[in-house]
Amino acid sequence: MAWTDRVICMHHRPLAVFASPGRYVQGPGATWELGRELERLGLEGPILFIAAGTARRELQPIWEEVLPPVGLWPTVIAFGGECSVAEIDRLVAAGSGQPFCAVVGAGGGKTSDTVRAVADQLQLPAVITPTLASTDSPCSALSVVYTKEGAVEGFRFFNRHPLLVLVDTEVVARAPRRQLVSGIGDALATWFEARTVRQSHKTNAVGGLPTTTGTALAKLCCDILLADGPAACAAVDAQVTSPALERLVEANNLLSGLGFESGGLAVAHAVHNGISELPGSHGSLHGEKVAFGLHTQLVLEGQPQSEVMEILRYCRAVGLPTTLAEVGIDADDENQVRTIATRSVIPGETSHNEPFAVTATAVVAALRAADRLGRTLA
Ligand SMILES: [Zn+2]
Repeated sequence: MAWTDRVICMHHRPLAVFASPGRYVQGPGATWELGRELERLGLEGPILFIAAGTARRELQPIWEEVLPPVGLWPTVIAFGGECSVAEIDRLVAAGSGQPFCAVVGAGGGKTSDTVRAVADQLQLPAVITPTLASTDSPCSALSVVYTKEGAVEGFRFFNRHPLLVLVDTEVVARAPRRQLVSGIGDALATWFEARTVRQSHKTNAVGGLPTTTGTALAKLCCDILLADGPAACAAVDAQVTSPALERLVEANNLLSGLGFESGGLAVAHAVHNGISELPGSHGSLHGEKVAFGLHTQLVLEGQPQSEVMEILRYCRAVGLPTTLAEVGIDADDENQVRTIATRSVIPGETSHNEPFAVTATAVVAALRAADRLGRTLA
């Protein structure tokens, strides 16, 4: 389903909408509170966990310790690694016909995207415990579905948000720095995309116009990233939590999620979807591609040079891509650049949330110009 179709079918009037998960819990050792948190939400009995490798290794022993005392009996299934139709169907089949009270997803962004789709099909509440702060996925009510080859196939929108998002920052602090940095890239675009949607009076990702609240949270997200990014990266390098890391994880997981959904998306994520078409980019993470999408958006919008360069320099400082080569694209290959641009302006793409008509030709020019600017810093 495309972004715009959803809004039209949900509302006949242009209403402002804000939506969020039911409860957000974050801190060092939060996993130890998972049993009490699920109990207070009224969940009991068998509960299905879909977990990536790190979560099974590091968290499963804790789940098995804290859940039975509150009457919860976990069944843990390994996540296959891609949020694809085949993987969603496999997990739905595994969870069908059993009296599970909820589906818990533990892992990165693709895990949480998959688990929301599975929970939706099983008509059960979703609970997300991210082990990374690598994307804005955990708090949202939509999933990006990829092909088995890793290209973006489409979006699925759900009526219900996760009942609970619980983030153990000790686990996040032990993840590779690159994952946190990718989350910064994803979250950095949030404010600039929300600002655009606000200006153009277009719709957000929860079926309405942006509220002032959604846009303000996106701005707060950006302010935290700019202030705390380097210090939070240093904490992850040392594999410890710190106040800066706590604020940054909240920005990456909570504020970016609320900000993009209730604030809206624009060119940055559309260019991400374009970049993902090319096999050369498949070694790049979501937020790395979004970061280059952000540079493209700022150039395309004609934002002041001071803002464009501030963002480029910040990305360079924390280790986010500033050139096409850094997301696996050959900038001198006309076909590759054209492919990105063409995919980024297909009907229903968020590039059409800009306050002006966005064409593939204009995106080609912006991709090239952003790459040139980025290369001056490389
Ligand atoms: Zn994103």
